[in-house]
Amino acid sequence: MSDYITRFAPSPTGRLHLGHALSAFNVWAAAAEAGGEVRLRIEDIDQTRCKAEFEAGILEDLAWLGLSWTGAIRRQSDHFPEYSAVLDTLRDKGLIYRCFRTRREIASSLPAGADPDEAGFVSRPLSPNEEAGRLAHNAPFAWRLSLVAARSALAGGWSGLCYIEETPSGRARISADPAPFGDVVLARKDTPASYHLACCHDDALQGITHVVRGEDLRAVTAIHALLQALMGWPQPVYRFHPLLLGADGKKLSKRNADKSLAAYRAEGMTPADIRAMTAPA
Ligand code: GLU
Repeated sequence: MSDYITRFAPSPTGRLHLGHALSAFNVWAAAAEAGGEVRLRIEDIDQTRCKAEFEAGILEDLAWLGLSWTGAIRRQSDHFPEYSAVLDTLRDKGLIYRCFRTRREIASSLPAGADPDEAGFVSRPLSPNEEAGRLAHNAPFAWRLSLVAARSALAGGWSGLCYIEETPSGRARISADPAPFGDVVLARKDTPASYHLACCHDDALQGITHVVRGEDLRAVTAIHALLQALMGWPQPVYRFHPLLLGADGKKLSKRNADKSLAAYRAEGMTPADIRAMTAPA
């Protein structure tokens, strides 16, 4: 087995578009450069938005682009008990608590557009009595990671929290600060795991040594570094690729960002055309 294992981890919430193709080209190029392997992971935790037909579309589009992976495909929805076991571990360590505040309640106390799951919201665990009362009434809740508990569980608090970033000019140790995200949601009553929990669990389980992802996921890598430290998971090296820009160097227009690879294919475009469209200007 190679000592360089990376992954492509799309969510089947729709057909792949140019942004996914850019990400995939970066993942496969990094693996080829290192003589490594690529695993394919289907991140379909959110069963309300993910569909089997989109998973089939991902396989079809990757085959069309000529990108193949090694090992079995890991479909996260087949592994819910594994993510629940991680939650149990975190709960046993006193690192998570049930939060009964609704997303709407929290959103009203945050700036417009902020994500109530990870926009700096910090709550407090209820007393055992209060909690038992809510549970008896079947009140919905989210499992939140307590920053206060996490900080005291780590020797040195946040100061030792970091990850290694690989750039074309070398490697750098990057300090990770999860505090701005507040007490992030790791699961909800009806959703057994958040993206962060499932992603970090799977990176560790699948022996991922290098994560190649878009700049848009740079910030949340701090949450991942925290989960890895708390769970004692091995930490991959991270590489962040620039996001796709429009011809004018600005954010890709919604029309182009939303257009699927399948639609380009139907218009007669080739994989080489897709590569050209995603090449840096
Ligand atoms: N499912 C995530 C996405 O498509 C995975 C990205 C990652 O963890 O690198 O954005």
